[in-house]
Amino acid sequence: MMTLIKERVPTPERPVEERLKGFMEVNLGYTFELAVKEAERCLQCSPAPCTQGCPVHIDVPGFIRKLRENRDNPEKAVKEALEVIWACNTLPAITGRVCPQEDQCEAVCVMGKVGEPINIGKLERFVADYAREKGIDEKLLQEITPKIEKKKEKVAVIGAGPAGLTCAAELAKEGYQVTIFEALHKPGGVLVYGIPEFRLPKETIEKELEKLKKLGVEIKTDYVVGRTITFDELLEEYDAVFIGTGAGTPKLLNIPGINLNGIYSANEFLTRVNLMKAYAFPEYETPIKVGKKVIVIGAGNTAMDAARTARRLGAEVTIAYRRGEEDVTARVEEVAHAKEEGVKFEFFLNPVEFIGDENGRVKAVKFEKMRPLEERDARGKRKLVPTGETAVLEADTVIIAIGKTTSKLLRMTLPQIEADEHGVIKVNENMMTNIPGVFAGGDAIRGEATVILAMGDGRKAAKGIKQYLEEKRKSS
Ligand SMILES: Cc1cc2nc3c(=O)[nH]c(=O)nc-3n(C[C@H](O)[C@H](O)[C@H](O)COP(=O)(O)OP(=O)(O)OC[C@H]3O[C@@H](n4cnc5c(N)ncnc54)[C@H](O)[C@@H]3O)c2cc1C
Ligand code: SF4
Repeated sequence: MMTLIKERVPTPERPVEERLKGFMEVNLGYTFELAVKEAERCLQCSPAPCTQGCPVHIDVPGFIRKLRENRDNPEKAVKEALEVIWACNTLPAITGRVCPQEDQCEAVCVMGKVGEPINIGKLERFVADYAREKGIDEKLLQEITPKIEKKKEKVAVIGAGPAGLTCAAELAKEGYQVTIFEALHKPGGVLVYGIPEFRLPKETIEKELEKLKKLGVEIKTDYVVGRTITFDELLEEYDAVFIGTGAGTPKLLNIPGINLNGIYSANEFLTRVNLMKAYAFPEYETPIKVGKKVIVIGAGNTAMDAARTARRLGAEVTIAYRRGEEDVTARVEEVAHAKEEGVKFEFFLNPVEFIGDENGRVKAVKFEKMRPLEERDARGKRKLVPTGETAVLEADTVIIAIGKTTSKLLRMTLPQIEADEHGVIKVNENMMTNIPGVFAGGDAIRGEATVILAMGDGRKAAKGIKQYLEEKRKSS
């Protein structure tokens, strides 16, 4: 009888003192030996709940099986495992690192009922990293690309985040001519400007982008659709369009003192550090002053990233959240890392005023204390009531991370597109908007969501676009 190994094989991590000296990746990933050891814990369930729990339905037991079946031949093991993963997910080095597996595939893993679930995310990351290191992914790509039959139709993809990149890759694999238009000077969306190096090294994204270019996708950066090029111009030149513009506009707090210096949206703060390399000042030009005390408002992934970034820039950091610990939405691993790195948490504090000094710079935040009730709201969170009691926390920098919403620009230039009152674009089951030939996916149709959901949308939209173009071809 098979022995159940209840504990996971741990992945090595960089020690805290070393982490705080820079932006190097915290989790160091599995070696082949460790990956096989973890793979051996898998029960190979059939049907596999983990595959259903994964938003893009990766054959999890299938790729895990390839690792352990070929334990004497690492290259063969990884090549075959990668083939299984690539059938559903073209960016495993990224999703293996940032997916909230604990709420998805790992949440339903049968091993999780008797012990710790299989470390699916880290195994996926291992396969992608090993394949890249040994050039296995390159060889696999070379096997795929010559078989692609080129088609004459042209597709424009707006936005180079995970939704746009996945849609582009899937269409390129089908032989369509794809051009991505990206507003920023670098492609990657939140993967480059939001998620910091210590969680997702920029090199990982660059390697994934190289693969895309090898598939023949053209990426035009510094191209703001709606400004640099109009939507109508795109529609004239391209046979179909995919909108993957994300939800990059930060929500701010409408309370006294919001215009004081030293108050950033998490978006601005993280973009300055990540994209403009503010952490490497004076080598790079955009300095960012965090001061000694930083308060981060919010408790999602963005808040954790901002807080852990500020710790690395030398500040004492407190996360202030209006709800309790049970409602923190950030990934479990990020919260654990933030705590290990010395980030403090204050719960049930709702900001009511930013207090400034004589130079117009923030020096403190006033909060009202909240009291949780037993009753829960529609999202299952405990309802809160204000207590009337206040607390003041000193700060020389405040970072607001309370969520983001979709940009108005595209909708201003495309007023006929159907969207809800928050600007979230509406699509049908094939991801097509109300405008024929115009598809959308990712945060643009969901509000803030996750990388894998954005990728799933990109994939589904590519299928929808293919179907649309084939029908158009038949009727012309
Ligand atoms: C700091 C942070 C941390 C996160 N951490 C995680 C995590 O750990 N795990 C997870 O699953 N999710 C995480 N998320 C959420 C996740 O990153 C998003 O859900 C995902 O990136 C959405 O993908 P997208 O392609 O729809 O949009 P985005 O990644 O936002 O990409 C949209 C792209 O479109 C471009 N664009 C916008 N307008 C135009 C225009 N008019 N013309 C041309 N280009 C345009 C933008 O510049 C951008 O590059 C995080 C988000 C943030 C902000
Ligand atoms: S649910 Fe867990 S044990 Fe079962 S196949 Fe998936 S990873 Fe393996």
